[in-house]
Amino acid sequence: MKKVFSALLITTIALALSSCSGLIRKTVLKTVDPYFHGPGIDGSQFEQLTENIYTFRWNWYRNLIIRTDEGLVIIDPMNRDMSVALKRELDQRFPNEKVNTLIYSHYHLDHTKGGDVFSPKEVIAHSKSPHYWKDFDTHEVLKPTRYISGDTVLQIGGVEIRAVYLGLSHTDTLYAFHIPSARLVFAPDLGFVKAVQPVGVPDRYSPGYLRAMNKVIAIDFDTFVASHFGYGIKQDLVNWRDMLETGRSLARQAIKKYNTPGLSKHQMGKYFDEVYYPMRKQYGNWHGFNEMYIINLIRDITGESLGY
Ligand SMILES: [Zn+2]
Repeated sequence: MKKVFSALLITTIALALSSCSGLIRKTVLKTVDPYFHGPGIDGSQFEQLTENIYTFRWNWYRNLIIRTDEGLVIIDPMNRDMSVALKRELDQRFPNEKVNTLIYSHYHLDHTKGGDVFSPKEVIAHSKSPHYWKDFDTHEVLKPTRYISGDTVLQIGGVEIRAVYLGLSHTDTLYAFHIPSARLVFAPDLGFVKAVQPVGVPDRYSPGYLRAMNKVIAIDFDTFVASHFGYGIKQDLVNWRDMLETGRSLARQAIKKYNTPGLSKHQMGKYFDEVYYPMRKQYGNWHGFNEMYIINLIRDITGESLGY
């Protein structure tokens, strides 16, 4: 009898634990899912921005397509599924135009896969990209034919594309692209339009990232195209920088007041009060605030404490 009772007890505990982890899973998904999915995010959309520049959104990713006299230029293939979907659009809209050049904005694998779908004549990337790629499975990354470093002006089929090097910011291989004739900047992973960044912007060195945003903001342009969610105007990038920097400076103040994490008691709640509520007051209506801001808060507290 005792044995049966013990077995029953173990089963009950196991069941309780499994339903509890199910609940955790459900709660996490419910919290994070609306950031990446929903109306206006799911699906794809091909749009014309200026006379010869187009943008393609595929779920929460967005890239840039430039028509030139020598064929198309695509910046960031992202992944195979997105590339296949874009290729279908391009074949339909510009059936006689080949892809002349594919450019990678930075080495990150979620921006550089599936490029072979386009069979480009040339593939351009920052010279340090292979240094990182050698540590990962990159069989889906089409190998560059040309490496660049520093600010580089590309002249392709009569269109000037200025590749603006952003230093150690979001990796040290990051470029923004300024097309002066269109007064447009495509700045992958450097800013969003009225949307909070996911997980504090992964792989971000904050001081360099601020320098990078300021370098782009110093350019004279009108249209700002981000690599995730919507596109907008230059002021959107200015507002986004201010949002990021407000969060950082609140985190800095909180550390000054309540010490570096782990050195005093009950710090988490104090950081939360100091950073979360003022940020929610100002940016609570931006896309992703509810889903992502707490992760950003933790990232800013640790970043400001450690120096990154
Ligand atoms: Zn990235």
